[in-house]
Amino acid sequence: MGNGILVLNAGSSSLKFSIFNVGAASLLSAMAVGQIEGLGTAPRLKAKGADGSVIADEQWTTSEVANHGQALQAIATLLRARFSGQELVGVGHRVVHGGPDYSAPLLLTPQAMEMLATFVPLAPLHQPHNLAAIRAVAEARPELPQVACFDTAFHRTQETVAQLYGLPYEYYERGIRRYGFHGLSYEYIAATLPELAPEIASGRVIVAHLGSGASMCAIDNGRSVGSSMGFTALDGLLMGTRPGNLDPGIILYLLQQEGMSARDVESMLYKRSGLLGLSGIGNDMRVLQESDSPRARLAIDHFVYRISRELGGLAAVLGGIDAFVFTAGIGENSAYIRRLVCEKAKWLGIDLDPAANEQGGPRISSVDSKVSAWVVPTNEELMIARHTCQVLGL
Ligand code: AMP
Repeated sequence: MGNGILVLNAGSSSLKFSIFNVGAASLLSAMAVGQIEGLGTAPRLKAKGADGSVIADEQWTTSEVANHGQALQAIATLLRARFSGQELVGVGHRVVHGGPDYSAPLLLTPQAMEMLATFVPLAPLHQPHNLAAIRAVAEARPELPQVACFDTAFHRTQETVAQLYGLPYEYYERGIRRYGFHGLSYEYIAATLPELAPEIASGRVIVAHLGSGASMCAIDNGRSVGSSMGFTALDGLLMGTRPGNLDPGIILYLLQQEGMSARDVESMLYKRSGLLGLSGIGNDMRVLQESDSPRARLAIDHFVYRISRELGGLAAVLGGIDAFVFTAGIGENSAYIRRLVCEKAKWLGIDLDPAANEQGGPRISSVDSKVSAWVVPTNEELMIARHTCQVLGL
């Protein structure tokens, strides 16, 4: 009988999960990964085993699987059937917001849940779903310990000067500050570098997490010192459907001159902007790369332009850089985008090795490159499983 850790990542209409076999904390292995998508519209479960084979593909009506609690039951049924020899010993959750103070994972207690609920206004589109998944587990298996792992925690090492906005100071004290996100991804990369690339692990590294959400992080000796994302995950780079940083005057204009409601603006910022809004075609980089539409081209060029600008800014924060790392869906898979970004970063001392880039790395810069460039696949679920083991003393 083995011990298992369940990792959950709850979104507004989805519940992603992974189950890890607990060995030594650094030797966790994923036995299955999957997700239920379409909660509220057309719930569908898809899951794969460790070898990539499909172990579940099921569809329900919204009355059969109506919410996160019922989605969790469906996942539990699958896991019981497939991994009957496995004893679940803990659950780790991705929780988007840990507020100004949490810089480490947290064992969940009723008091901790109350505290996390106070961060709902800071992340109203994500935090309630994260908390719903925690409550659903607590109801189904009250004896099971649960751990919250925050997307903001890794950035709490940043100095106050990097977390400020230029508003009256009292707003900083009331929580309006740069929190930064994708922290579990950056923490995983920082934890991977000592083994993968020891020569840069203690240096000045900029990591570009380029997925459907996209951000960049400046890491100095393994610690976050700057991030492109701020108070919310809307800031910074152009993303799949989000615009990244905007002149705040645009929001005032939309509200006051265009007569849009706050809800309309929110929907435009989260769902209709970014690669989708600029191209008018879609938010999937693969589709845009294959398209010959001039607006798809423009969207890609702007995506790359914004990465270059952020790279310059974060390099200044670090006082120069030793390495640049690409990760997440686009960063790991698109040699084309990596090439465009590295070409614009020549001034920084990055010299791309085109063949290594086509092969996907890990090192994609030439031997003589002053600043090395890398592709490092991220693994936020593994980071959560490791944290959960550490907190639970497994
Ligand atoms: P993520 O959010 O990290 O899962 O990344 C998802 C995004 O990665 C998708 O929206 C795609 O745009 C992008 N992506 C995945 N594979 C490729 C690829 N081979 N080339 C370009 N983009 C890709």
